[in-house]
Amino acid sequence: MLTRLYRITLLLLLSIPVYSQSKSITTMMQQKQVNSTCLSIGKKLSSVTFNECLELNLSPSQHHSVKHNSLLLKEYPPLLKRRQPQAKILMLGGIHGDEYSSVTIMFKWMSILEKYHSGLFHWKIAPLVNPDGLLQKKSRRINANGVDLNRNFPNNGDPKASLEYWKNRAYSDVRRYPGPAPTSEPETQWIVELIKEFKPDAIVAVHAPYGIVDYDGPPQPPSHLGPLYLKLLGTYPGSLGNYAGLQQEIPVVTIELPYAGIMPSNQEVGRIWVDMVRWLRKNIPQKVKSNEL
Ligand SMILES: [Zn+2]
Repeated sequence: MLTRLYRITLLLLLSIPVYSQSKSITTMMQQKQVNSTCLSIGKKLSSVTFNECLELNLSPSQHHSVKHNSLLLKEYPPLLKRRQPQAKILMLGGIHGDEYSSVTIMFKWMSILEKYHSGLFHWKIAPLVNPDGLLQKKSRRINANGVDLNRNFPNNGDPKASLEYWKNRAYSDVRRYPGPAPTSEPETQWIVELIKEFKPDAIVAVHAPYGIVDYDGPPQPPSHLGPLYLKLLGTYPGSLGNYAGLQQEIPVVTIELPYAGIMPSNQEVGRIWVDMVRWLRKNIPQKVKSNEL
């Protein structure tokens, strides 16, 4: 009996360093992934430096792109147990890899949150949803499988809607290929899972270059955010606005910056941010749905 007890104790003692060692190896590997992605982002984007990216302490999600780039996430969690945030907000940049400004602005807004996160909202930010599209010599809208991620979301259980829609349009082009089936792509699977787990009260997705604000879902859209005015573009099968906004009734604010390769001025970046937070504060979550009145 004593011998058995001795063996168990010995095993437990031995297992502690092995566990903490494997944990630290995992942490080191994760940090290596973040460093490598930050290095590539710093080389690609003129307005985001390697150090700027690194200092944000982005976390690698458990998901990877087609080319095994780490899909990075930053969380600004609730700050006080007694004060619950007003709402959970998910922000997405770089869904299209050739829209540089949509990634850069995420870094600018994260640096604002680094200083001023008050706990009013619980934020999750994916600054670069499509790293394979951005981080190559000639950046592309589509991912490494040639799929437009903003056409690859689920369609109310209809697996063929996006492909049929794409095939039937004369203007359909390879840059808007929705993939063989909804959520065929790892990057889209990641966002769908994130939405299911995090259950955001609103989603802000940034694109370029139409210079407007688009909106899907309840309640009333913002009339403008900084210099960008509301213009409803409608949705496509497989788009995020269709999936989250229309099918799940999660408000989706789509910010279309005016240029893909030129950032708005610092003042405009700040004005869009202030107007967006003001609108979220006033409207999200919608307290009573219109059909419940
Ligand atoms: Zn886009």
